[in-house]
Amino acid sequence: MYQRLTNIQSDYQNKIIATTVRTKPRWVALEDLNVKGMMKNRHLAKAISYQSFYNFKIKLIVKCQQLGIPVHLTNRFEPTSKVCHQCGYKKVDLKLQDRVYECKSCDYTEDRDINAALNIRDTENFELAY
Ligand SMILES: [Zn+2]
Repeated sequence: MYQRLTNIQSDYQNKIIATTVRTKPRWVALEDLNVKGMMKNRHLAKAISYQSFYNFKIKLIVKCQQLGIPVHLTNRFEPTSKVCHQCGYKKVDLKLQDRVYECKSCDYTEDRDINAALNIRDTENFELAY
């Protein structure tokens, strides 16, 4: 049973990676999440370990390296969720349960994860993975 779940997960990761590299991106950006810290949060631990972020990250980096696609690892302390992608305003009181980012400064409204993803894509505060 576990082997089967592991295979399904691995297959899913491979498909996401293949779909990503097929778009021939100029770079791929990943947030260097503090997985160890997140594992200490009992609400997040199960979901995170099941998704095996680490395996995914390594597979993605290896594939990108094979194809010559740069991989940007965003600094762990970059406030990617708190910063407005449109104007740069930093929302210091953003909470984990706030699923929509609403900027007080410019009225930009976007799904929290999309806003963060755009910041991760565009930040210059990163290290190259290889
Ligand atoms: Zn804004």
